[in-house]
Amino acid sequence: MKKVSLGMMGPYELTTEKVDEVVTKTSPGNYALGYIDGESFIVRYVGRSDENVNIRLKQWARHREWYKRLGSDVYTHFMFSYAKSPKAAFEKECKNYHDCGGKEILDNERHPQRPDGTNWKCPMCDIFD
Ligand SMILES: [Zn+2]
Repeated sequence: MKKVSLGMMGPYELTTEKVDEVVTKTSPGNYALGYIDGESFIVRYVGRSDENVNIRLKQWARHREWYKRLGSDVYTHFMFSYAKSPKAAFEKECKNYHDCGGKEILDNERHPQRPDGTNWKCPMCDIFD
């Protein structure tokens, strides 16, 4: 598997406590979910929050709790970064999505969406042209 640079901090275990410990700013941001294999963080899903990446990651941590109760624990760890604007978060999510192989490889079912009312374009492909 090719080594992908996400430009994020982590990985950290995906729990609400850990999210609150390391994601301390209220900020737009990006994240990746996955698991640890030996020394490597294996990315399974990339995402962003336009307003508060802490809240979004805690939603995922709660999902993890539900899945664990069902005997499934797919996204054990996360990485994240802050973004200086929602547009920067969008463009980074697009880059992460394509760098990681897109929906062929990731669990993401579709290309990152731009917020309604914007004409932002993917920096990596022409899906919005
Ligand atoms: Zn694209």
